[in-house]
Amino acid sequence: MTAAARSEALWQGLNSTQADGTECVMCERSFTWPELPDAYRPTPVPGTRSGPAGIPAVPVGRSETGSQVFACAGICAALAWPD
Ligand SMILES: [Zn+2]
Repeated sequence: MTAAARSEALWQGLNSTQADGTECVMCERSFTWPELPDAYRPTPVPGTRSGPAGIPAVPVGRSETGSQVFACAGICAALAWPD
């Protein structure tokens, strides 16, 4: 499967925070930034965004509402892509 196809995969049965892209679709870790000034945030890896602990999140598909959804880079992304 190509990266483009992966990022368009349809995810069903997500909770509301997963469906709007603020929570990992696999482990439900929140990707919402804490209230930190920009200067204190790590620089995101290109193509990803980072959560409170600087955990990169990768887009893994879309929810039923069409929002992009994310998984933690690493094991969660690997589990999200069964190939
Ligand atoms: Zn995760």
